[in-house]
Amino acid sequence: MTPSPVAADPGATADRETPQTHGLPGWAEIDLSALEHNVRTLRERAPEADFMAVVKADAYGHGLLPVARAAVRAGAGWLGVAQFSEAFALRDAGLDTRLLTWLSVPGADFTGAVRRAIDLSASATWVLDEIATAARALATTARVHLKVDTGLGRGGAFGADFTSLVAHARSLEAEGAIRVVGVWTHFAFADSPRHPTVIAQQERFFEAVAEAERAGIRPEVRHLANSAATLVHPSAQADLVRPGIAMYGLSPVPQVDDDFDLRPVMSLRMRLALVKRLPAGQGVSYGHTYTPKVDTVVGLVPAGYADGIPRDASNVGPVSRGTYRTTVAGRVCMDQFVVDLGPDSDAVAGDVITLFGAGPGEPSAQDWADATGTISYEIVTRIGARVPRIVIGGSQGLS
Ligand SMILES: *Cc1c(COP(=O)(O)O)cnc(C)c1O
Repeated sequence: MTPSPVAADPGATADRETPQTHGLPGWAEIDLSALEHNVRTLRERAPEADFMAVVKADAYGHGLLPVARAAVRAGAGWLGVAQFSEAFALRDAGLDTRLLTWLSVPGADFTGAVRRAIDLSASATWVLDEIATAARALATTARVHLKVDTGLGRGGAFGADFTSLVAHARSLEAEGAIRVVGVWTHFAFADSPRHPTVIAQQERFFEAVAEAERAGIRPEVRHLANSAATLVHPSAQADLVRPGIAMYGLSPVPQVDDDFDLRPVMSLRMRLALVKRLPAGQGVSYGHTYTPKVDTVVGLVPAGYADGIPRDASNVGPVSRGTYRTTVAGRVCMDQFVVDLGPDSDAVAGDVITLFGAGPGEPSAQDWADATGTISYEIVTRIGARVPRIVIGGSQGLS
């Protein structure tokens, strides 16, 4: 396909029309050239480290496979996901990079994971046992990353449990069932520049690595940096960085006045399903929480909380139509919400409005997060399955 610019001219979005979007109530435009740019920018920020593109949760709502392929084209040597099903989908689609998955429960398909040469994380000895059982059955050696809890208080082995984990891993290495290729951890406050726990966790991490090495473990990669740490704590980059949100062009530290030269990848656009006049004083949507003070023109937007539009965005979620900015008027419902387009609006049904995008004057996913008391991660990740992802740009277009 021919790459089309992401709303370089905000006026252009009002009558934007492509064969792919014709007749759709709405869509999320996924700009893979922006994604590739972000991967290259992040790699330049961490020139000594390998790069793991974190594509969990359907690539933060952007679409797993097109994003993973674009990240690999832009130089990612690793992919990272939370769950086995995500890792299997990547392998089964032919992505043959190094691939790490880190959240599993007893009884998960460890055999499927080992057969697909997926690197597995272990925070507890039972995980090592499940991995070893799978590896023995397949007569192979599984690749394992030992996770240490250095103070997040979430995943990872804490304190003396890490010592036991290392000892158990060594015995399984001796048998040939596993090989420990990584030691890793995750920060609690990476998004708070200069937070004292960042340094403390980093020190604890390198002590844990040293402990594992004294026990005979020889990891290829030591890794701890998510987007925020990669950008604001370069000393944490170590052997491998694991950016997620920054790859999607959203800042992991929105309170910091720096866009790090990142470009938003997702733009969320909807088409007005109805445009009509309402008189002053007529309440709008369930509960009449919005009432226009003057006669006005309202538009009906065919997206609601079932599509991931937060109900908390009622009366505050920002939208734009061309250069006109307004907010959701009244309650967000399951499938729809209303916008007040102003008394002089020339809008007609079918016009495109932007909930968030990358163009000048368009609201951002961060604006939606600020308006609804959450983080940009949640805004993009929650966009529902009913909203098609339309891929544009990228060095290989629709691959
Ligand atoms: C999600 C995740 C990341 C990426 O985090 P961002 O803040 O999006 O960069 C990295 N590592 C782990 C373990 C994660 O779960």
